[in-house]
Amino acid sequence: MRRFVIETWGCQMNVHDSEKMAGILGAHGYRPAESAASADLILLNTCSVREKAASKVFNRLGALRRLKARHPDLLIGVCGCVAQQEGETIFRRAPWVDLVMGPRNIAHLGALLEQARTDGRSISLARDDDPITFPAETASRAPGPRAFVTVMEGCNKTCTFCIVPYTRGREVYRPAAEIVREVRDLVSRGYCEIELLGQTVNAWREGETDFAGLLFMVDRIPGVRRVRFTTSHAGHLTSAIMRAFRDLPTVCNHLHLPAQSGSDRVLRAMKRGYTRGKYLAKIEALRRDIPDMAFSTDLIVGFPGESESDFHATLDLLRAARFDQVYAFTYSPRPGTPAAAAKDGLPEPVKLERLQRLLAIQDEVLAERHKALVGRTFEVLIDGRSRLDDGVAKGRTRCNRIVHVPVTASTRNGFLDVRISRAHAHSLTGEPLEATPAA
Ligand code: SAM
Repeated sequence: MRRFVIETWGCQMNVHDSEKMAGILGAHGYRPAESAASADLILLNTCSVREKAASKVFNRLGALRRLKARHPDLLIGVCGCVAQQEGETIFRRAPWVDLVMGPRNIAHLGALLEQARTDGRSISLARDDDPITFPAETASRAPGPRAFVTVMEGCNKTCTFCIVPYTRGREVYRPAAEIVREVRDLVSRGYCEIELLGQTVNAWREGETDFAGLLFMVDRIPGVRRVRFTTSHAGHLTSAIMRAFRDLPTVCNHLHLPAQSGSDRVLRAMKRGYTRGKYLAKIEALRRDIPDMAFSTDLIVGFPGESESDFHATLDLLRAARFDQVYAFTYSPRPGTPAAAAKDGLPEPVKLERLQRLLAIQDEVLAERHKALVGRTFEVLIDGRSRLDDGVAKGRTRCNRIVHVPVTASTRNGFLDVRISRAHAHSLTGEPLEATPAA
């Protein structure tokens, strides 16, 4: 029997793509290997959003070359966004690679493997107009109560910093009937929290049905207890979607809404298509209507030309929006994107210093928000044990806060009402009140 390892970089989209790849490999007779050293096939599922993405992949390929020298039958594949971006260059720079596959080509993985074994090499990169299949029925998902479901691929935005439209292509929406079928199947297998995925997930549509309509359909599937979705774009956050947060019982009161910057000047240069005022107005409207609505965001620090006062506008946004989680990145030029040609890039130390200041303010905001939760009770969906202490279970509230509870007879995987007893920098501790089974 052949064994495989998939090493995954990047976002939830990539994590779920790896689940789809694992499912296809399972159907071709492969089973997971304990480690790369005992694998017959190693796939690197790569991400090109982060700095030095390609060089990190080539470094890893350098280490895998030694493994291949010891096991000549080992197949090595590069998948995901770096594969799409670098294409044939990967074979030239790392001739021991057998397979290169872009993120829109996952459905072809089985055929590509056959070809790599017989012809010695295979490659499949997507063009924008290629039809796309969503090989979701075969995905091999992580155990637990939560499951990812792809609703769209690609991105039609033209954000000047972002590589995603170049690597993942134009938007393609998955038919609603397919999405609903997959969710029903997941519920029948015990999953009860569904996270809908897409690069601009709330741009999904099918004929007259928009993303709010899709949320309505998923909400009505018996057995679905929680619905989340990521990543949303503020420009597509319609009032219908905002009403869905209020009216649909399964839609969780948490939204990941990347702001990228708090400065209108920078937002314009990034071509984000919204202003700070419009962004904040949507957050405030949701907060008014939905109890305990929580927000997380992505921010880029040190975009070309970002002045100290632009940066201050981002710090002010942190104080005004009171996010529960911030993913902050220093700007890094991505090859081929418009911003990469900018002449007014900031020195690395300036970007890093701003990042530290931003994170310090966010820590203050979060400490205040967490402190206010002590003594309150939340429904927590337990999904495993703490990484640091096996006597502690961990789960998430509907508003996506991580809560740790001592393991007791009532703490099995499932829903638990928990009273918050202590607030920490990035999590909460609580005491369970009562337990109900997951499904
Ligand atoms: N589609 C989403 C959007 O546009 O809001 C997310 C795209 S990306 C996969 C995730 C995050 O990486 C972005 O929200 C952004 O904050 C960050 N990112 C993307 N390109 C970047 C760059 N060139 N430099 C630094 N951070 C970047």
